Amino acid sequence: MKLIKQFCSFVGKEIDIKQASLINIIRSEIAEKGAISFPRFWHHALLHEKFGYYMKQDVFNKDGDFVTSVEISQMFNELIGIWLLNTFQHIGVLDNNFRPTNQKMHILEFGPGLGTLSSNILRVFAQFNLLENLQYSYVEYSDYMRKKQQEAVLKQLQKSNIYPKFEYNNQKVEKFESDEVNLKWFKMYEHFLYEETREGQHCDPVLILAHEFFDALPINIFEYSNGQWCERLVGLDNDGKTLKFVLSNGPNQNVQKILNPDKYFSPEIKKLIKEGDTIEISPQSGVIVNSLAELIAKVGGAALIIDYGEKRAFSDSVRAIQRHKLMDKKDILNKPGDCDLSAYVNFMALEQAALKVDGIKVPEIMTQGNWLEQMGIQARLQILCKNANKATEKRLQSEYERLVHSNQMGSNFKFMSIHRTKNNNLFPFIQDAQQIYY
Ligand code: SAH
Repeated sequence: MKLIKQFCSFVGKEIDIKQASLINIIRSEIAEKGAISFPRFWHHALLHEKFGYYMKQDVFNKDGDFVTSVEISQMFNELIGIWLLNTFQHIGVLDNNFRPTNQKMHILEFGPGLGTLSSNILRVFAQFNLLENLQYSYVEYSDYMRKKQQEAVLKQLQKSNIYPKFEYNNQKVEKFESDEVNLKWFKMYEHFLYEETREGQHCDPVLILAHEFFDALPINIFEYSNGQWCERLVGLDNDGKTLKFVLSNGPNQNVQKILNPDKYFSPEIKKLIKEGDTIEISPQSGVIVNSLAELIAKVGGAALIIDYGEKRAFSDSVRAIQRHKLMDKKDILNKPGDCDLSAYVNFMALEQAALKVDGIKVPEIMTQGNWLEQMGIQARLQILCKNANKATEKRLQSEYERLVHSNQMGSNFKFMSIHRTKNNNLFPFIQDAQQIYY
């Protein structure tokens, strides 16, 4: 310890090694620069290179902190695989017999977690003998999660006797490439855009998946205080240790740039706003969806966005989860890196960001239960049960209920699509949202 201290002071700064925790890093930043924005805190908490929540540990399943639908049941993932095949056929990338045409099938998945959805999709595509015609791109910020995903898909490919070589050509792209498969990982969406869609690069139509990705993106929180909108920032309590929310000193830059209250609220809503009201906005989500819509408008295809949320703005939706338990609101700021952070997704904001792009359609969102039923989950359940013993049948039945029933995950989770496809239709979505709401 003494040696490390000496070394640290030798390189210019005395750092007590015990102090090197994420909360201390954040405390120092606040002490130095003043209160920080909530997105800045959020980025540290989830994605800090060394101590961020997604950067260092297994967060999923029984031994982790939470379980997602893709981890609950293969049925969920297979139906997304079938939706992809069906949509590739609908947009002409596969012919009527599900055989390849001269275009590649391109899938782009955001935040692939343990790689389970992707592995199951690769299995479905292998069954249709379509792996060779597939390019699968992943956007994953965490080095740790990328490794997990690569292990999972490699295991799946080996079942089809495929042993691709791993290539790491620069910090931004990691690849599994062989005659049989083409898989690429990008740390950030910007890297994908740069590598795959820059001038002179050919990009086939793309189908995009984002399962529980947008709820992991940071939000700004605005609060109405003393007759004006302010931003909730992260500051320090008097003890100099405890992190707490503090209000900006009047309307700061973000109030104008991100909320823009004069434009955001209609005159009727303005009359209802009262002291202490808050509103959450995720600018990064809007930017990504708008860019995805531009990509789809250019190359064709669709995005499937699946998340916990509704078609409205939220005011108090941030959740911190540790070991499958919702943490007390007052602890949200004080365990950075040790618990998951998420916020409900405002599908209305995503829709508006997508519809800024000409030619893009956004059908009405569907509940998870409805989407899975329309995609034939009951038929899939019956087939799986036919070959199963009693215990497996019971497990499958309970997985089905968990995914579909409205008192479980069936209603709170929504499926949204943005697309540019033939006849403006996209199964199983039925109506244009615009026809209902505008
Ligand atoms: N889709 C998976 C995982 C959801 S958790 C599932 O449903 O099980 C969120 C995932 O997004 C993790 O893999 C996390 O590492 C990744 N992630 C979070 N923020 C990100 C960001 N800003 N950019 C890229 N990946 C991110």
